[in-house]
Amino acid sequence: MAKMKIALFGGTFDPIHIGHTIVADAACESIGAEKVVFIPAKRSPLKHLFPHASDEDRYAMTALAVSDNEKSAVSDYELKKSQPSYTLETVRYFQGHYGSNASLHWLVGADGVDDLPHWYGIVELLDECNLSVMYRGGFERPDFAKFVGLWGGERLAKLERNVIKTPLIETSSTEIRSRIAAGQSIKNMVAPKVAEYIREHGLYRSSQAR
Ligand code: ATP
Repeated sequence: MAKMKIALFGGTFDPIHIGHTIVADAACESIGAEKVVFIPAKRSPLKHLFPHASDEDRYAMTALAVSDNEKSAVSDYELKKSQPSYTLETVRYFQGHYGSNASLHWLVGADGVDDLPHWYGIVELLDECNLSVMYRGGFERPDFAKFVGLWGGERLAKLERNVIKTPLIETSSTEIRSRIAAGQSIKNMVAPKVAEYIREHGLYRSSQAR
């Protein structure tokens, strides 16, 4: 029997924007996944120095952004932990949750490729799930050739097979925070319900919010 495919999408989502939701939908379709689970990451304590949104607000905005999409869900698994979670721990948790008949795809944007060698337990992660790198507007197409010495040809081939040619969207959370702090419009950059939440809660207004 074919395995059930589930896509997991971790991020700070500070705030979640249309780049996130459009590529997640495209990735879900390309993989043939049952659904995409958005997993907001707990922020490292140092980042609280800046007036970004709280864990609760980021979770609420993510839930609003996916509320009309039956193929998307949001999980507070990482937010409930006392410390930021390693992706490997999160993947193992979801593998246990969905069972051995589920094949998990961890989504990451092309801007994250150069960081991969620094991820905790990256080799185990490459072996235990499908790390699926998505195209991102404004960033190079993913190229793993430089990692061959680190991970070997088989892992590289798996990474390359799992690349998803998602639509190129240049929106970033940084740009959205800057625009709000500068009093500029974020229309069409976030879902209307997310824009309303940001407005109602007065998020990102400080000029340090970048
Ligand atoms: P920031 O500007 O604060 O760094 P961000 O816009 O990159 O934030 P994150 O929440 O850090 O958003 O991203 C979560 C995941 O989504 C990462 O894997 C990132 O590469 C990916 N991602 C974010 N924006 C896009 C986009 N426009 N296209 C493709 N992938 C994206």
